[in-house]
Amino acid sequence: MLSVPCVLICLNIIFLSLAGALFFPRIVVGFSVLISSLLFYAVQEYGVIFDRSMIQNIVETNSGEAASYLSMSFFLFFVLLGLFPIFAIFNQDVKEAFTKRVFKLVKINMAAALFIFLIGSLMYKDYAAIGRNNHNLVKYIIPFAFYDSGYKYLRDTYFYPPLPYRILDRHPHFERKQRSNPATLVVVVGETARADRFSINGYTQPTTTRLSQMGAVSFANVTSCGTATAVSVPCMFSRLSRENYDSRIASSQDNVLDIIHRAGASVTWIDNNSSCKGVCARIQTIDYDPKRSESLCDGDYCYDEILIEELAKQLRAEASRNRVIVLHMIGSHGPTYYLRYPAEFKKFTPDCARSDIQNCALNELNNTYDNTIVYTDYVLAEIITLLKRIPDASMLYVSDHGESLGEKGLFLHGFPYHFAPTEQTHVPMVYWDSKLNQADYRQCVTGQLNKAYSQDNVFDTLLGLARVNSTTYQPLQDVFQPCRS
Ligand SMILES: [Zn+2]
Repeated sequence: MLSVPCVLICLNIIFLSLAGALFFPRIVVGFSVLISSLLFYAVQEYGVIFDRSMIQNIVETNSGEAASYLSMSFFLFFVLLGLFPIFAIFNQDVKEAFTKRVFKLVKINMAAALFIFLIGSLMYKDYAAIGRNNHNLVKYIIPFAFYDSGYKYLRDTYFYPPLPYRILDRHPHFERKQRSNPATLVVVVGETARADRFSINGYTQPTTTRLSQMGAVSFANVTSCGTATAVSVPCMFSRLSRENYDSRIASSQDNVLDIIHRAGASVTWIDNNSSCKGVCARIQTIDYDPKRSESLCDGDYCYDEILIEELAKQLRAEASRNRVIVLHMIGSHGPTYYLRYPAEFKKFTPDCARSDIQNCALNELNNTYDNTIVYTDYVLAEIITLLKRIPDASMLYVSDHGESLGEKGLFLHGFPYHFAPTEQTHVPMVYWDSKLNQADYRQCVTGQLNKAYSQDNVFDTLLGLARVNSTTYQPLQDVFQPCRS
């Protein structure tokens, strides 16, 4: 244990002195210190790890989301561990002759390398054993893990040529049996909602009472594809399974919405989150706009009720063909949970009205989070109310990923999937359909509720609900296939 900080210090000496010798010593060291102070804050306070998908999250975030992390404790970390050292570094004068500096550089690097070699030869077995059993540890090494992931992100995003676009099915079509009315399917993509916080799944606090009253049913055993929006959202709409998911492949081929669209349905994506993460690139989109309503938006975010307004507008237009409307919620997006719900939904108190949530009492944090679910319950119930007015309508709600709320010392989400706690991967999936009035159908669906599903099932389930015949359809993966006679 004692040798680890020494090894890391030696690695830092080698890295910083060599990089600094090539470029500008003070700027290189200063930059590294600044980055490290930010990384250390995130690791220490939220348990966040900076792997490639986390870098992607950072790059794809918007100013409102970034600003929500600013707090007094963040400021203290930044000043004490970032700005003060930088001030000290820039106060150092480098005046020695060039040859003398080179000699010093060689000396200190040799000393550091020798020390690492010594530790390596004396304690190789311990290091190898611990490393093999804890692959995750390397990801905590600040700032190198960040540089490594950053390099991989840049390489994969900007330096690989884009793949040619692949059409997965040229002729998808609607089932022959035409019905008298065009069907309406509303897909709601949730944000950061945890399955175990829905009372419809057995949570002790009454968070989702409206959904139960509305006759919606809930799948209690669903897992996400990723632990972050940038992975889960494109993944759940893509033909790729979680294990094969690759953002580069997914973004260069049809997703399920493209196929439903090609079959002839009108498909619209309405966003109240950062963006659709590429899923809506080829369909009609009503973009995220934090200024679209004075009463529901604060300039950075809008309450999810904005989606009900937009949906009502869409539904008012006479439907001449089947339609699919996707609503992308802001849901329970942290760390400013308290900004996700209007005052009248502050059902559980005291709540945690601040962004440095790790400094709130656990019960306050839980109350705030549960209030976001109460509000989500309201929004979903309002959507169902709208759908009850039209014939042949259905709604499927799936959250993108869960959230850590202090369990195991972790907060927020985005943990590498293989190590992620269930709080981050167990997501709610709620279904309502005008057909649930039919006793046979409801009974059959109820029989499926406790089966294990994942976001891999979304692709085929949506094709089934939209009644599209496609060569890409895998009936065994369609959640409702057993109930369609
Ligand atoms: Zn998300």
